[in-house]
Amino acid sequence: MALKDHKSIPTAEVARLIDLHLGELREENPNWQVIDSPISGRGVFARRDIKRGELIFREHTLLNGPTASKDTLLNTCILCFRLLEGDMKQVLCPAGCSLPVCVACQQTGEHDKECKLFRYWVPKDTTRINPFSLRIVSVMRCFLLTREKRKLLLAMQANSDKYYMRELERASECFENFPKDKETLGFFYRTVSVYNTNAFEGRSNVDGHETSVRALFALAGLMNHNCTANSSHHFDDARTIVVMAARDIAQGEEITATYTKILWNTFARQLFLRGTKHFICECKRCLDPTENGTYLSALFCREQGCKGIVIPVQSKILQPDWRCTSCETVAPHAKMARYQDFALNTINNRINTSTVHELITFINEMCPRFCPPSNYVLVEAKLNVIWRMSRFKGEFSEEEMQHRDRYRDEILEIMEKLGAGDCTLKKLITNEIP
Ligand SMILES: [Zn+2]
Ligand SMILES: [Zn+2]
Ligand SMILES: [Zn+2]
Ligand SMILES: [Zn+2]
Repeated sequence: MALKDHKSIPTAEVARLIDLHLGELREENPNWQVIDSPISGRGVFARRDIKRGELIFREHTLLNGPTASKDTLLNTCILCFRLLEGDMKQVLCPAGCSLPVCVACQQTGEHDKECKLFRYWVPKDTTRINPFSLRIVSVMRCFLLTREKRKLLLAMQANSDKYYMRELERASECFENFPKDKETLGFFYRTVSVYNTNAFEGRSNVDGHETSVRALFALAGLMNHNCTANSSHHFDDARTIVVMAARDIAQGEEITATYTKILWNTFARQLFLRGTKHFICECKRCLDPTENGTYLSALFCREQGCKGIVIPVQSKILQPDWRCTSCETVAPHAKMARYQDFALNTINNRINTSTVHELITFINEMCPRFCPPSNYVLVEAKLNVIWRMSRFKGEFSEEEMQHRDRYRDEILEIMEKLGAGDCTLKKLITNEIP
């Protein structure tokens, strides 16, 4: 369900506010424009033909802040995302706002307003970093926006969800004097909803310290979803996103982004999109049970003597029957869903508990017994090997590197079949973007 308001601001006004927001990054004659979309609400469209690899736009965040998630280091400066070393006394802002801020950022004055606001709320504990109050920094910054940017924030789509309130409740428990009035809480709640509906998980890398950043982009956030999008994106730094054409895009075509993982099968993508984005995708790939011949959903046929694979008969409904492509036996969805869950749990369990070496052996020797090589769970496991080996360079045998290269070629072939062009994942696994 969408919160009201965002549609009451005309699209032309949103386009004007976006131009203002882009500021110096706005090109004189952009190859895109913001107009109403047949997919949903508003969208970004090609104003002229755009060539594969061409820059579409660069944009600074409207809002950002630390995600403060479990797997990140909390002692990271909330402004420049540099790792802060030393004891808590050296890491925390000396003014007593309870936030980690580096000395350089303390001196620029950029932190002054939010520092004052946090101190006004009176943090209960100023001796350590609390992840819940750290996470609210990204939301609290909505107060510091200019009038125009605030209007733009309110124009962004916001789905409501009862869990979003928890974020505010948890933060309020960290302060003596957290705002209680309806208007402020309403604005906060809306900002949390806008984040959850539109945010990109940004990556910041400062001096080799990588951290995840909650990043809200007004223009990039307007791009509608397609399971095989025609644009790719990466981050120049924690506050700058770069969107490029993954394929040739014709004048008038909508410029799309992918909200899911590109290698998930249709069932996994639909479940995610319904659950978190509140819509059903009807793109070409979603309507094709073979997903452009990639067979990302395929499971083995269980009929005696048959060595075929089973795929959904059609994908327009969430619980379709499945049929073997060899013996044509039909299996009910519930049965195949249990089989897919088994494969998913078995493989994910191994991913979480194995070394890279063990995982490679498992993928090569055990998986072929219960899971077709094209199944997305197995493909994701191979991707996991690639990520892990790229993070720990130089500790692997020749043989392991050969397996990794083979997995990469397989994944590139799948993306080629999908027609994904130079998509974000392709650029990542070929090291085109860091
Ligand atoms: Zn800093
Ligand atoms: Zn401070
Ligand atoms: Zn789709
Ligand atoms: Zn069969």
